Amino acid sequence: MRAISSLLTLLGLFLSSQAQAMEPPPTLQFDNGKWFNGTGFDTRTVYSIDGRLTSETPPDIDSVIDLGGGFVIPPLCEAHNHNLGGDEDEQEVIDRYLSAGIYYVGILSNFPQYTGVARRNFNRPDSVDVQFANGGITAPLAHPIPLRERLLGFGAYPGFTRETLADHAYFTVATQEDLDRIWPIALSYRPDFIKIFIMNSQDHDAPPGETDYEGERGLHPDLVYDLVERSHDHGLRIFAHIETAEDFRLAVQAGVDVIAHLPGRRLPEPIAEDIANRAAENGIAVHTTAVLANRLREHNPEGFAAVRSVQIANLNLLYRAGVTLAIGSDLYSADSRAEAEYLRELDIFSSRELLEMWTENCARTVFPDRKIGALNEGYETSFLVLDGNPLEDWSALGAINLRVKDGYVLELGESIHTED
Ligand SMILES: [Zn+2]
Repeated sequence: MRAISSLLTLLGLFLSSQAQAMEPPPTLQFDNGKWFNGTGFDTRTVYSIDGRLTSETPPDIDSVIDLGGGFVIPPLCEAHNHNLGGDEDEQEVIDRYLSAGIYYVGILSNFPQYTGVARRNFNRPDSVDVQFANGGITAPLAHPIPLRERLLGFGAYPGFTRETLADHAYFTVATQEDLDRIWPIALSYRPDFIKIFIMNSQDHDAPPGETDYEGERGLHPDLVYDLVERSHDHGLRIFAHIETAEDFRLAVQAGVDVIAHLPGRRLPEPIAEDIANRAAENGIAVHTTAVLANRLREHNPEGFAAVRSVQIANLNLLYRAGVTLAIGSDLYSADSRAEAEYLRELDIFSSRELLEMWTENCARTVFPDRKIGALNEGYETSFLVLDGNPLEDWSALGAINLRVKDGYVLELGESIHTED
């Protein structure tokens, strides 16, 4: 495959500059590829016209690319992270994603001010495609406020003070009046979707002054319903951070579009069957983020075992109910590879099921309106070519020998260090 890569370089097919990206993508013919069809692989010739896959032979072909019998799969995806859109220079992180074959990333909170300067680095053929939540909407004193303030103290947010973090890095809402005040501000930063925090909703009726609950509770349930309605009225999807099974129930009943975690990363939190069914009926997607329980593994092995067995029960229940599960890690220094590995260890899903959760389900959760995440007729010409069949040998996902994105062969920067 190295020989193919050098040949492609000679042909000038590699996407090497942004200027090239402005021209329409070349018409390509891909020979000798085994293309994933959702269940297995078919050997066929595929073409790309204007950056879209087709099986119909075009009248003129710019180049023929021999895929050398490689296994062609849709790009991988990270449904839940926070590590982009914070700086002008994030090339190392971008290269890490592309090297892993991860093309689509959901960022579930970011500072619009920083993302403004970083935005030009994304959503183009030679980079990852990203959707941003901006600052999330939460309750007074609740997550992520203490975390943001702590990081501010470490100098993480130049140009910000404790006061200016509010209404930017997050929005604090305790009442209907608060919501009326912050809503136009949140919209003015043009989020790709709305992120809200639902936490310990089962304790919402405990007296407000009780210190036990200070900062532990997320948005009031009434405000959650209101926020779902407002978001949908504005054509925006709404994603909910949750902690407990009761939070999961509230998110489903209120009608959010995406639940950004499995419940119970610190304590076992079994999801009720009727709620799983309702989530499936309403087309609600769930970010798995099960790997977050790993933080328990060392200091509380018994607690970890209990959490892990309920994670297995919850994932089985959601999958059987037909809920869209999307692989997302929520690991700032890592990516969805760590989540996929954790899920594999749980030994619930087949390789085909995991691949679907990592490609199609995830891509649909990040960009619901695009034809991505599968290799169907008319879909975007974005795929990975592997040496081996990942359904038979999962480690084949670590041996990507060709990456094509938006109709261009992707050349990775020199800074890339692959682990394979
Ligand atoms: Zn997160």
